[in-house]
Amino acid sequence: MIQHAGRFAPSPTGPLHHGSLLAATASYLDARRQGLQWWVRIDDLDSPRVASGAEDSILRTLDAHGLHWDGPVQRQSLHIDRYEAALTELSRQKLLFYCSCSRQTLADAQVYPGTCRHRHRPVADTAIRVRVDEAPIRFHDLIHGDQSEILSRSCGDFVVRRRDGFIAYQLATAVDDGSDAITRVVRGGDLLDNTARQIYLMQHLGLQVPTYAHLPVLVDSHGRKLSKQTSAPALNDRNAAANLLAVFPFLGLNPPAGTREWSPGELLDWGAVEFDLARIPPGSATFRL
Ligand SMILES: [Zn+2]
Repeated sequence: MIQHAGRFAPSPTGPLHHGSLLAATASYLDARRQGLQWWVRIDDLDSPRVASGAEDSILRTLDAHGLHWDGPVQRQSLHIDRYEAALTELSRQKLLFYCSCSRQTLADAQVYPGTCRHRHRPVADTAIRVRVDEAPIRFHDLIHGDQSEILSRSCGDFVVRRRDGFIAYQLATAVDDGSDAITRVVRGGDLLDNTARQIYLMQHLGLQVPTYAHLPVLVDSHGRKLSKQTSAPALNDRNAAANLLAVFPFLGLNPPAGTREWSPGELLDWGAVEFDLARIPPGSATFRL
């Protein structure tokens, strides 16, 4: 049976902060509103970056905020067979080549110059790239409107398996989101410019392209995106209701007086009725801690 779902897909590199709570809450409320399941998928492929205890902390924080997921937690590290099958299919379509360019050689190139396009035989210590073309990738974002991107001009042939052997983010995300289940992807606005690459892969793999919505990027008072790198503080699970109230305005949700007394579950029940992607402004928004 095909189930339809939205998803939240954190990398287990550290605890959640207000920026990740915004994405989790928005995808949760959107799924509730659409009558979809809501899945949590741990994007744990980049194992050198996985922080010990981060996954437990993320799941505990979601739970404390009333963001209860459906079904078992998904893990990308358990999907390697799927990604290998996708590589085999792209290879069958003669879209893959081995790239031995070093980071230094490519340092100045915004667009991959196609240097290794002729390398069709496996070579040790190389990345695998997928060829792109001139055809525009078009999609409608529920917050940013109609989008169109020509990959040969924006990024060129891109990496699908890294030189260190790890499946690249774009391929893993495309394969997992393009599986039958995920029909709505509501995620951080910094990922908007990844979407065309992921759709390109889904199209070549015969996968269903979900509907996308890219949220405002929360920045600190210096204009830096909230992230672990900018040392955004971890969410305090004991302040779950206050944390939800702090991100609600960025989702176009302005709770009435009295909601300060509500539990996280009551806030989410109210939010699920009021939530409307059309009320969310695109672009970035300053978040004051
Ligand atoms: Zn190359």
